[in-house]
Order: sequence, then structure tokens, then C-alpha cells
Amino acid sequence: MIVGIDLGTTNSLIAYFTEEGPKIIPNRLGKNLTPSVVSVDSEGTVYVGETARERMSLYPDTVAETFKRSMGTERDYILSGKHFKPEELSSLVLRSLKEDAESFLGEEVTEAVISVPAYFDDKRRKATKRAGELAGLKVERMISEPTAAAVAYGLYDRTRDTRFLVFDLGGGTFDVSILELYHNILEVRAVAGDNYLGGEDFTEIMAKLFLQKAKLQLQNLSEKEQVRLFREAEKAKCAINDTDTVSIGFLYKEEALEQQITYKEYEEACEELLMKIREPVKKSLADAGLKLSDIDEVLLIGGATRLSIVRDFLIRLFRKFPDTRMNPDETVALGAAVQAAMKERREEVKEVILTDVCSFTLGTEVVVEYDEGKYEDGRFCPIIERNTVIPASHTERLYTARDNQSKVRVRVLQGESRFARNNLFLGELEIEIPKGPKGREAVDVTYTYDINSLLEVEVTVVSTGEKQKMVIKGQDNEMTEEEIKKRMEELAYLKVQPRDYEENRLVLLRAERMYEESLGDRRRMLDRYITAFEGALKDGDHDQIMETREALIEVLEEEDGE
Ligand code: AMP
Repeated sequence: MIVGIDLGTTNSLIAYFTEEGPKIIPNRLGKNLTPSVVSVDSEGTVYVGETARERMSLYPDTVAETFKRSMGTERDYILSGKHFKPEELSSLVLRSLKEDAESFLGEEVTEAVISVPAYFDDKRRKATKRAGELAGLKVERMISEPTAAAVAYGLYDRTRDTRFLVFDLGGGTFDVSILELYHNILEVRAVAGDNYLGGEDFTEIMAKLFLQKAKLQLQNLSEKEQVRLFREAEKAKCAINDTDTVSIGFLYKEEALEQQITYKEYEEACEELLMKIREPVKKSLADAGLKLSDIDEVLLIGGATRLSIVRDFLIRLFRKFPDTRMNPDETVALGAAVQAAMKERREEVKEVILTDVCSFTLGTEVVVEYDEGKYEDGRFCPIIERNTVIPASHTERLYTARDNQSKVRVRVLQGESRFARNNLFLGELEIEIPKGPKGREAVDVTYTYDINSLLEVEVTVVSTGEKQKMVIKGQDNEMTEEEIKKRMEELAYLKVQPRDYEENRLVLLRAERMYEESLGDRRRMLDRYITAFEGALKDGDHDQIMETREALIEVLEEEDGE
């Protein structure tokens, strides 16, 4: 079975294709969203999702989150003294999702289509693929998140050509993509975004408003207090969609504080963030050569598009109502599941050609004559420009720069800088040319880049027709199958708890946190319920466990107001 996975910055989801269309697979706790949070304790036990997030306020040094942002980098995360790369943390999330799917479907899951942001460069896509492999999943195809959204909305099935803007505001990232559907081809025309803007910034504004009103400074709060305040602010942020005023309660140094915040105050405080949203919208339109009024439909994805402040702003900006028929958290995973079905060539889905854009510029190093007889080395000459629709093939003719030059060396580079040295070196080719005065001989350099991230470079000497060719697949950080196997073995010391205990663990962690946050009678009452539950767990009496657990959950829910 091939599944579709949305490996998100804040939350991840797994979906599969059924006769009635794509469906989300619930995790071991019965929820569709699994927070992309990982925790590892000193004994090497791994916690993923809600349980890991719950550990955040209790044991902050053992928890990692938002690691998708560092995907493809060498960033080192240390959890309980153990080292992890971003893709390794992601692989733990994927492993958990895979297990959930296998238990739900009753069959092995061996392959996945994973969604990635449209702007993810080759390095980050490869790291995502490795994360899949480390989790025991074959990843042959990836789908860009906006394309997945359009596919989930069934937009590829239209008869009329359409232009869409996919507005994706997640927890920590913001992406705008412009897609065009014509003659059965769904094409990403342009992408833009802000890697450091998302729902969490809106939470931060809420927290800051509270601090301002309560006359407190963030830096005076302990780490645990900050985590708690942000959790309260998060709740208030979601609640303000439906009311004019929200109240935030917060226990500060044994004192219970409370502040009211109005919708209007919040909207004003968010003004700057809303302005920031405008920029990538403008940039993507400019890159696609379109105006706001050329957009036929706007799709909203990402949890933070539920914020009514954001929706109101978008309606004003686009002068139309966005399409919100689907759950914004689930759209991408559902689209990835449809893509998985296309890969399996299931009859129920129509094959469509999905294209993508190249999210970076590919070019070569050249010498530039900037004045009569004056040269500058090391300049970058773009061949396939950023946002070019792929598959794509472009040729650039380069002339000899010096008299009696006998060779031309083509260095293949990726990046946006005018200077070759600042861009990423991918490989090089050398070809002999007949000697002669500078500028007489020329080579045609052709780059062909396809949807599977294969770059073919061909150099032809114009006067002789001689050719040299190379294909660039990998990059410096590519791991071989053996290396993957070895790292999988190394990671095998990590103990993943049996799925059945997950709920018990989560309840205990929530209770432990709540205990720390309360005082006096509440604290004593919680202690009674926790002790009873722990006692039942120790005795291993099933009925007793269920009974004391239910009782504890009831108290927690009352206290947490959920
Ligand atoms: P995602 O990364 O797409 O899972 O989005 C997560 C973000 O969506 C977080 O910042 C959440 O606070 C935010 N979010 C989820 N539900 C709501 C809601 N009902 N109202 C406002 N923001 C929400």
C-alpha cells in the first residue's frame, strides 16, 4: 500500500486512498493530527506527537520541534545528551505515522508519497527522502504542498483553464503558490513565502498583549512559565475567532493572573504581521506575471488560515471569498494520498500531469568582460532560472574569453548570487576546443532539469559538434543505502513504547503538568486521582485501570477547560 504523508512543520498526517476517495488515518490516540514533536528521554525512549509535546513544559531539554525548518542542514539537536539531525527527528515522526497506518489498515505500508513545500531545494527534498528511508519507507515521489492541495480539491478535474493561488499559513511557515491548470496540466507557476512567519507569531502577539496588560516582562518568566503562557495564548487565539473578548488566565509565581483581550485590540496588534503576509503574495504574482484580478480561485491551507483575522484580511485583499470547503489541516495529506493512488495507477483516479517549478536557479561560472580588455572572473550565469516550470531545457551559448584558449570548463552551480563562489557547486565538465582568438569559438551549454530532480548537462562545441554530457543526481550530503542502514541500526537503540500504552502515558503527563500548575486543594485533589491511577497501573488490573483513568481524565478536562 502506498500512503500519502504531509510531514508538516507543526503537525503531520497520513492518508490513504479508498473507493470513496482519500481518507486520513487516525493515530494511536484516535486523532488525525500528530504534532511534529519528538522527545527522547535519558533511557532512549522515544515519544512522538502529543505525548512529546506534553513533555515540553516538564522536560524542555528532551524535546525538539519545528525541525522541518532545518531540514537538509547539519543542525545538531541534542535530546537527553543524544545527537540527532533534522531528518532523523523527522524519521521518528514518520515511523510513528507508519505504525499507526499499519495497525489501522492491517497491512504493511512500504511506500509513501511525501509532500514538501514548493520552495524546498534539492538538498531539503533529499533530506526528506532520507527521513522516509530511515523510517523504512520507500519514497519515490514527492509532491509539492500547493499541488497536493489543488489535487485534493479536485481542481485538476476541471474542463475550464483556471488560475489558483494557494495560501498556506501553517504554524511556523508561510507559502504562497500560484498554479495554473490548462489542458490537463497542473502547473506551479511561482512560489514565494516566508520561512519565519506562521500561526505561532499570532500566538506570540497574544502572549505579548497579555504581558503588556499584566505589566510583566517575558524574560522574567522561567522557561516552564513561558511554555505555559504560550499554551494559554494559543487557546485564546483559537477562541477569539468566535467571540469579541477572550480572557487569559496565568499562574505567575503562585499568583493567579487574568486579563481580557478584545478582538479589536488583537487585530490592531497583528497589523504588522498582516502586512508581512502581503509581500509574498505580491512577489508570487509578479514572478508569475499576473495581477490580483487574474486569480480565479484562492485556496486556504494550513491551520492558521482558520484565524478570522487572517480570513478577513484575505477577503479584503482578493475581493473574493476563498475556498474553504476542506479542512485546512488535512488538504495536503489528502492530496498526497491521491497522488499515491495515481502512482499505483488506480482506476478511480484520472492521471494528470503535475509539473513543478524549479525553486532555485541553475547556472554556470563565467568570465565577464566589463570594459575593453578588462575581465572579471567568477561570475554566475543563470541557465535555468528560479520559478521556471519543470521539466525544462535551456541552452546558453558561451564564447571563449582568452586568446588561444584550448579548453572550456563548465562548472555547474545552483543559487541566486551573482558570484559563483556564493552558489552551491554541483559538478563540472571539461571539453577541448580549437585554439583561436578570443571570442571566436563557442560552446552551447544545455541544462535539462526534470521533475525527479535530475539535472542533465550537455556541452557542445559549436565549430566541431563535439559533445560532453553528465547527469547530476546526488549532492554532497547524499547517503548511500549502506549508510542509511548503518544509521538505522545506530538509531535502533531508541525504544519505541508499545502503542497500547500511549494513552496512559499521555494522561499521566498531562496530570503531572496540571499538578505543577495548580496549588492548594486543586493540587491535593489531583494528587489523589493520579495516585489511584498509578496504583492501578502498578497492579495491572485492567478494569481498575480503565476506571481510574476515566476518573482522572474527567478531572483533567474540567481543570483544563477543554
Ligand atoms: P499547521 O502547521 O498547518 O498544522 O498549522 C498550525 C497552526 O494553526 C498553529 O499555529 C495553530 O495555532 C493554528 N490553528 C489551528 N487551529 C486554529 C484555529 N481554530 N484558530 C486559529 N489558529 C489555529
